[in-house]
Amino acid sequence: MVLRKFCPNQHVDSLAGIDLEALAQAGIKGIIVDVDNTLVEWDKEVLSEASVSWVKRAKELGLGVCIVSNGKEERVARFAGELEVPGFAKAIKPRKKGFLKALEVLGTKPEETAIVGDQLFTDVLGGNRTGLYTIWMTPLSDKELFSTKCMRRLEQQITRKLEERGMLCRETSRDEEKAG
Ligand SMILES: [Mg+2]
Repeated sequence: MVLRKFCPNQHVDSLAGIDLEALAQAGIKGIIVDVDNTLVEWDKEVLSEASVSWVKRAKELGLGVCIVSNGKEERVARFAGELEVPGFAKAIKPRKKGFLKALEVLGTKPEETAIVGDQLFTDVLGGNRTGLYTIWMTPLSDKELFSTKCMRRLEQQITRKLEERGMLCRETSRDEEKAG
């Protein structure tokens, strides 16, 4: 079913809402993270303390962290540098290519890797296509590219359908989630 490709394994309100300990215990070894409206507001240039400490905590738990963004090289490189993690820009998510590069750098298999991002059409769809554990986060800000705003309308329609079918806001095992 097409809808399933848009179905995240988890839906959270913020990075802080992600139970990193539980992920590590469940066998997740690496986390791919989006930049705009996930790590930092789309129109901001400074990482929040919350984002910095979240990445730090992930590393403390032994999780590898890698940025994959559709954004510009310079912006992505700067945040990756500040967080001391690898980063790939202009990834053209939902294409798999950027995710596959991240897996190579992290040294993890898809099933050992989570993706955290704020868009169903890029982060979740691309993550599901790559076989990752997908975590959909409420965007940090409602300011975003015009093209993104347009996609949000479609995203809302899909979200409604997922909710109607009870496919959203529940944590399910990978097997259960991806089986059908
Ligand atoms: Mg984003």
